[in-house]
Amino acid sequence: MTEFEFQEPAFLSEDLRMVREQVRRFVDEKIVPHADAWEASGEIPRSVFRELGALGFLGMRHPEAYGGGGMGALASVVLGEELARSTFGGVASALTVHSDMSIGHIAHRGTHEQKLKYLPAACAGEKIGAVCVTEPHAGSDVAGLKTRAVQTREGWVINGSKTFITNGVYGDIYIVAARTDPEAKGSRGISLFIVEKGNPGLKIARKFEKHGWRSSDTAELFFDDCIVPHDALLGEEGRGFYYIMSTFQNERLVIGALVSGASAKAIELTVDYVRNRQAFGKPLWDQQVVRNKLAWIAAKAAAVRALTYQCALMIDEGKDTVREVSMLKAFGAETLQEVVHTCLQLHGGTGYIIGTAVERMARDSRVLTIGGGATEVMLEEVAKRM
Ligand SMILES: Cc1cc2nc3c(=O)[nH]c(=O)nc-3n(C[C@H](O)[C@H](O)[C@H](O)COP(=O)(O)OP(=O)(O)OC[C@H]3O[C@@H](n4cnc5c(N)ncnc54)[C@H](O)[C@@H]3O)c2cc1C
Repeated sequence: MTEFEFQEPAFLSEDLRMVREQVRRFVDEKIVPHADAWEASGEIPRSVFRELGALGFLGMRHPEAYGGGGMGALASVVLGEELARSTFGGVASALTVHSDMSIGHIAHRGTHEQKLKYLPAACAGEKIGAVCVTEPHAGSDVAGLKTRAVQTREGWVINGSKTFITNGVYGDIYIVAARTDPEAKGSRGISLFIVEKGNPGLKIARKFEKHGWRSSDTAELFFDDCIVPHDALLGEEGRGFYYIMSTFQNERLVIGALVSGASAKAIELTVDYVRNRQAFGKPLWDQQVVRNKLAWIAAKAAAVRALTYQCALMIDEGKDTVREVSMLKAFGAETLQEVVHTCLQLHGGTGYIIGTAVERMARDSRVLTIGGGATEVMLEEVAKRM
C-alpha cells in the first residue's frame, strides 16, 4: 500500500520525528491487531496505558520533575496524529483524554504535593485520568453547571452528576468541576477538585453504548455526599471556569491533530482501494471525478494540518490562541466529516460493512463536531474575536 503522508514540517525537531516513528510502530504492532476486540468489549486493557507510559508518551507535556517529558504542544500534535492513524477513534480518544485533557489540570495548577501524588503514576500510565465538566443539563453552557461542592470540617462535600465522561468507568483520577459559590454569577463560582476512584461518594451510574468510539468507556457519574479532603481543591477556589477554558485550548488543539491523522489515514486507505477496484474496465482511480474528490479532501485535510501546527506553535510561544484554536476545532471537525464520508462513498458497499476501517472512522468521527465544543459554539468564539 502507498502511504498517504503529509510532509513533515521543517521545524519539527529530531526528537519529535523519533516520537512519531515510535508511536507509529506502537500503533501498528500493539494497537491495530487487537483493537477490534477492544471495540467489541468496550474496554482498552490497562496494559496499553502502561506500555505507552513506560515509553514516555503519556506524560510528554508534564514537568520532568514529576515523571513527564517537559515537551511543548507539538508533542501532543504528533501523538494525536499517530494515534488517530490507528483508525480506532475510541483508542485515540481514551489515550488523549488521559495524556492531554485531564491530568494537565494537575500539572498546570496543582500544588507540589498534588503533583507528587498524581503525576508520576499518570505519566507512567498506572493511573488513568478523566475530566468531568458536562452535566445532564449543562454541556455547551459550561457556566450552567449545577454540581455543588460545600466546604465542611471534614473536607469538601460534592453533590451532583456528570455525564458523557470519557474514561469515566475505568479511570482513577477524576478532575471534577463543581460550583463552590452559588451566589456568584455564572462562570465565577466554579472550582475544580481531584476525586479518586474508590471514593464511596462517587458512583458510576452507567456506561453508555455509543454510535462510535466503542472501545472507549463513557460514563454517567453521581456524586452523592462525596467527601474529598480540603487539599483536593485544584488551584484557586472560584477559578475553575477559567482553568477549564484554558485547558480546552489544548484539548481542541489535540482534536485538530486527531483530524489530521485520521484524515491522512482515511485518504490513504481510499486511494489504495480505488487504485485496486476495477469498474467499467479500469480502476476507479482512472475516473477523473474520483481522483478529484480525493484531491479535494486531501487539500482540505492539509489545511487542517497546517492550522493545527500553527496553533501548536502559537501555544508554545505563549500567544492567545482562542480564536485560532476555535477555528481549528470547527473547521477540523467539519472537514473530517467530509473526508470520512467521501472515503466511505468511494468504498461503495464495502464502506458500509462493519469491519471496514472507513465504516468505523465515519462513526468515530461524528462526535467531533459535538464534543469538546460544538461547531456552533466554536464559531461564536471566533466571531466574538473578529
Ligand atoms: C463520546 C463523548 C465523550 C465525551 N467526553 C466528555 C468528557 O470526557 N468530559 C466532559 O466533561 N464532557 C464530555 N463529553 C460531553 C461533550 O463535551 C458535550 O456533549 C458537548 O459539550 C455538547 O454538550 P451537550 O451534549 O449538552 O449539547 P448541548 O449543549 O445541549 O447542545 C446541543 C447542540 O445544540 C447546538 N448548540 C449548542 N449551543 C449552541 C449555541 N450557543 N449556538 C448555536 N447552537 C448551539 C449544537 O449543535 C449542539 O451540538 C463527551 C461527549 C461525548 C458524546
